[in-house]
Amino acid sequence: MHIEESVKLDFKDVLIRPKRSTLTSRLEVDIRREFLFHHSRQTYRGIPIIASNMDSTGTIEMAHALAPHQLSAALHKHHSTDDLVAFFQSLQHSAHAASTAFYSMGISPSDYDKFTAVMARLDNAIEYVCIDVANGYTEGFINFVKKVRKEFPHLTIMAGNVVTGDITEELILAGADIVKVGIGPGSVCTTRKMTGVGYPQLSAVIECADAAHGLGGQICADGGCAVPGDLAKAFGGGADFIMLGGMLAGHDECAGEVVEREGKKYKCFYGMSSRAAMEKYAGGVADYRAAEGKEVLVEYRGPVVNTLQEILGGVRSACTYVGAHKLKELTKRTTFIRVTQQLNEVFG
Ligand code: 5GP
Repeated sequence: MHIEESVKLDFKDVLIRPKRSTLTSRLEVDIRREFLFHHSRQTYRGIPIIASNMDSTGTIEMAHALAPHQLSAALHKHHSTDDLVAFFQSLQHSAHAASTAFYSMGISPSDYDKFTAVMARLDNAIEYVCIDVANGYTEGFINFVKKVRKEFPHLTIMAGNVVTGDITEELILAGADIVKVGIGPGSVCTTRKMTGVGYPQLSAVIECADAAHGLGGQICADGGCAVPGDLAKAFGGGADFIMLGGMLAGHDECAGEVVEREGKKYKCFYGMSSRAAMEKYAGGVADYRAAEGKEVLVEYRGPVVNTLQEILGGVRSACTYVGAHKLKELTKRTTFIRVTQQLNEVFG
């Protein structure tokens, strides 16, 4: 039996130590980033926050709402071929030069066939793809990434999910430009409860970022951000991109109807491996598996732009506290301190 004794940390275990700064206002902070991707050789410019490819947040409406603010969306994989073609065509004619949207797929033959069909109709115009599975540790997954890389050399590939440096390196060598990091931290994920498998997200980010950067790759921290400060910690820990589900749920741009309970408005939000999702897309939970996601009601929050201001304001302010003029400098300027308490809960 091998037990790894070093302590692994979550966002809740640390705070960022303030540092002397010459910044006078958070207005001076530039939270856009620019990346030249290792394999695709494509240049990205934007605010590196991506709406999760869950079916409530990875919508076409969300992508259109985020693009003017230079954020991205990963469209969920259940859109029809026609809708996807129309959406990516609209991006080509978009006024927002920096519009970045990810096409998402799993690794089944039908996922691949759908992707090649959409690509063919668009003259290969899709630039970003997210290949994701719950467990990115299988040989089949790595081989799938290799295949897509070989067939589409100019595509920027984000692939995951994993949580350790060894497999991050393997994925980058297999052709991924961005490795998606996170097993179990999601707001509607029950993987840790159902399987006992997982990795504290901040340590996963720190370790995977280190491995990826050593090879010229990037990482996307996926899951577990519950407040803007968690994004600051993920970026501070080395995340190049951050994917958000729960923090973007409950808005107008999310799929699903507003429901009322005791005079309050809510929207339904559920994990993509929850019973609700499997019933919607797979005709139920297959008898050899258990759901690894849950279904919740999120308070209805109106247009997503209000929430964006809060999130981006928090990240900008974090940069000011440590003297980072640009988001790029945040990692270098971050010192985490371990804490036993984060918040004063007197008023709940
Ligand atoms: P959040 O930002 O809500 O904390 O996390 C979002 C991430 O949770 C998604 O991008 C995805 O990686 C993960 N996720 C979504 N649905 C499920 C699910 O049903 N089960 C698990 N294990 N993870 C999920």
